[in-house]
Amino acid sequence: MVSTSLLRFLALLVLSSLASGRSTPRKSDDWTEKDQKILILGGGVAGVIAARTLHDHGHDNFVIIEARGELGGRMMSRTFGTAENKYTIELGANWVQGTQVGNGPKNPILALAEKHKVKTIFVRIMSTVPTYDHTGFIDYLDVFNSAVDNYTSLTVAAGPRVIKRQVDTTSRTGYSLIGSKPKNRYAQVSEYYQFDWEYAQTPEQTSWIASSWAENFTFVPDAGGFSEDNLFAIDQRGFKALIQDEAKEFLKPDQLVLNQTIKDIAYSASGVKVTTTDGTEMSADYALCTFSVGVLQNDDVVFNPPLPDWKQEAIQSMTMATYTKIFLQFPRNFWFHTQFALYADSERGRYPVWQGLDIEGFFPESGILFVTVTGDYSERIEALPDSQVQSEVMGVLRSMFPNVTVPDPEAFYFPRWFTNPLYRGSYSNWPASFYSDHHENLRATVDQRLWFAGEATSMKWFGFLHGAYYEGVDVAKAMVKCIQAGGCVGLAHVNEVTNGRPYKI
Ligand SMILES: Cc1cc2nc3c(=O)[nH]c(=O)nc-3n(C[C@H](O)[C@H](O)[C@H](O)COP(=O)(O)OP(=O)(O)OC[C@H]3O[C@@H](n4cnc5c(N)ncnc54)[C@H](O)[C@@H]3O)c2cc1C
Repeated sequence: MVSTSLLRFLALLVLSSLASGRSTPRKSDDWTEKDQKILILGGGVAGVIAARTLHDHGHDNFVIIEARGELGGRMMSRTFGTAENKYTIELGANWVQGTQVGNGPKNPILALAEKHKVKTIFVRIMSTVPTYDHTGFIDYLDVFNSAVDNYTSLTVAAGPRVIKRQVDTTSRTGYSLIGSKPKNRYAQVSEYYQFDWEYAQTPEQTSWIASSWAENFTFVPDAGGFSEDNLFAIDQRGFKALIQDEAKEFLKPDQLVLNQTIKDIAYSASGVKVTTTDGTEMSADYALCTFSVGVLQNDDVVFNPPLPDWKQEAIQSMTMATYTKIFLQFPRNFWFHTQFALYADSERGRYPVWQGLDIEGFFPESGILFVTVTGDYSERIEALPDSQVQSEVMGVLRSMFPNVTVPDPEAFYFPRWFTNPLYRGSYSNWPASFYSDHHENLRATVDQRLWFAGEATSMKWFGFLHGAYYEGVDVAKAMVKCIQAGGCVGLAHVNEVTNGRPYKI
């Protein structure tokens, strides 16, 4: 006779194998791989590249469903300026970050930009930057240069922590441990330029280890990265031309549904069904969800049944950061003649990084200038009317140029990424409390049928276009393999993310 404890043990075993999805669906006799339909939810870089990868592997039974009227996602541009002086500006991604050195790894976004002849310009971000405060021009380049060195020390010091398996901490802790403790507005804005302007959040809000590897895998060839170079897109078709033109090469009209916002995703171990806001229903064997982690966090799309606890914890543990470019156009150029300038306010992160586009090679005679804010400051300004933000920005600009009669702008615009229900932020940022197991769970497949990809699921390149690209490739390959095998668990998860050692309460 089988004891009750053994029965309980066997039942638990079955339950846990179901929970971790270890059972494999069976092929029916008349099954063919091509019958297996995939819905790709979202037409950003991850969605388009996943579709291309499926196509390259001979699997064309897929449909991309996208809420907007075009492909590209956060590669988003718009026309800006007065009727006589208009330009295409980038509201979202603007840079190829990291290019290539010799025969080393090449950023795939660079390869697409070259292939589709997207116009970019090389920019030396850490070159001399004129420095300002509330009294006008004031030279604090020495402080700026120390911040460049401190940032390098910060990323270098993270390396041994990975090798020694030391825990992660915030980048603020890291900065303090390497002796960098900015106390005045000049040191703070210089640190901001190195750090927040990249991660769109403060060092307090950011993982020390993950931010360092994100830097290394993109910008440091010795660490496996592409190169330290950055290319700024100035193409008047928009930076998005590289992904839209790529899609034109393989996508057939019946493989794309635009202007349909998904509101509900029903899934089970046998298939998926999505419903859009106008009531249209589409069913398939598999779905690949490429929505931003911000969309997933905010329940903009309802999953039915709700996503399992391990998935929800992973989603809610990542951060969706916000990076906001505020564009102004003036009748004439009265500012600095470099691409960048820094403004040190008494409040850290208040209208700190300025970029002029009215320069040779960019948009000469455009009169366009923009300032970037990030993180909590972005969230703050999104809640304000445009008129108030414009008046604050103009106040700063007039204090930077006290001897100039600064006119009001003829055009003014900034996007609201944080409140946009299709994005809920600009890109993900890895907090110190996000563990490797959370990361695996963010990528992991649910119920064998529901797959996930996007910049946020990339371990090495979260936040970047190339992260979205590589995730699109990897997940599509995994799906093809799975379908060819007649079904599979998909990308594995862990049921609970636990500490290496128990709490000593
Ligand atoms: C302001 C800003 C600046 C950036 N700068 C850079 C940069 O210079 N360099 C760089 O490498 N990266 C940059 N990035 C990051 C880069 O843009 C992203 O990493 C990348 O575009 C993400 O691609 P994705 O496919 O993962 O997601 P997305 O582009 O978000 O694609 C998901 C798609 O899903 C759609 N969608 C969402 N909800 C629904 C729904 N309910 N129904 C149907 N469709 C839906 C969206 O419209 C979107 O098209 C920047 C991003 C922003 C916003």
